[in-house]
Amino acid sequence: MVLHDQPMSCLTTFRIGGCARTMLLPNNVTGLEECLKHLSGTGKEFYCLGKGSNLLVSDQGVETVLSLERLCQVDILEKRDEVIISAGAGTSLRRLVAICARRGISGLEALAGIPASVGGAVFMNAGASGVSFSTFLQEVLVVSARGSGWIAASELETGYRNGGLPPGAVAAWVKLKLKKDTPQEVRKRATGILKKRALSQPVGAASAGCVFRNFHDAPAGKIIDRCGLKGMRRGGAMVSPVHANFIVNTGDATCSDVLELIDVVTGRVKDQTGRTLKLELRVWH
Ligand SMILES: Cc1cc2nc3c(=O)[nH]c(=O)nc-3n(C[C@H](O)[C@H](O)[C@H](O)COP(=O)(O)OP(=O)(O)OC[C@H]3O[C@@H](n4cnc5c(N)ncnc54)[C@H](O)[C@@H]3O)c2cc1C
Repeated sequence: MVLHDQPMSCLTTFRIGGCARTMLLPNNVTGLEECLKHLSGTGKEFYCLGKGSNLLVSDQGVETVLSLERLCQVDILEKRDEVIISAGAGTSLRRLVAICARRGISGLEALAGIPASVGGAVFMNAGASGVSFSTFLQEVLVVSARGSGWIAASELETGYRNGGLPPGAVAAWVKLKLKKDTPQEVRKRATGILKKRALSQPVGAASAGCVFRNFHDAPAGKIIDRCGLKGMRRGGAMVSPVHANFIVNTGDATCSDVLELIDVVTGRVKDQTGRTLKLELRVWH
């Protein structure tokens, strides 16, 4: 399916961004291969969209977006103690966590509350409290204009917020290895994690999660907080008073507001601590 003039403010958790002039939504892997061949043939640059939870999109919008939201099938194979989940890249991580809690499948509850798609979680190697998506990844089906193929997780050079996918590759499907547990235990852990998030992050506000990468020896949020920048505003964008590594859209923030605030925060942190903040957020111009 092809859609035109889709407002990215409705497709991102930041609620910011102009329109995607063309949006391609393949129904399956074959459709995705065709899309990528077509895009490669026309030489058009494109952005791959998951759940839009780590994105800041230009107020002017972007030309071409490939959305994987229709690749959202989930298959579960239970062995004795082990469970293999196979899921399309467009599947919401929240849905997977809910399925796991219901069926007593353990592992992903550590990532409860991350509003990612499976594809975005692979690409970013989403993680929390020392657990990352790559911990559970067995294989990923990677698609490019040249075709598709499964890559074993052991072949990916994953790191902090880096899934190690080949440049330009699109993750279409994943296989995850998880463990059997009781639904009560999995639910208890997931609930605990969600409660912790609710206390430490502005979960109800429009944001894109952490804006900056943590330093190896300190969380970026702590450093920004120590510089006294919580609550700082530019237009409708504000450094969250709850968690200093979150910038929240207070209602009418533009991409320019956020970029200006990022500049000011980066400058102040550099001046006061000598440290250079690096973006975790992806910016689409
Ligand atoms: C309230 C909140 C809390 C958050 N907490 C955390 C947290 O605890 N830990 C954490 O790691 N992150 C967190 N995030 C950030 C975000 O959820 C993650 O970075 C997530 O992995 C992004 O997934 P997505 O599907 O939304 O990707 P998008 O935001 O849609 O895209 C992000 C990047 O991934 C690429 N991408 C998406 N899908 C694919 C694909 N199938 N193949 C190739 N590339 C792809 C995009 O092109 C883009 O470059 C949080 C965000 C919010 C709003």
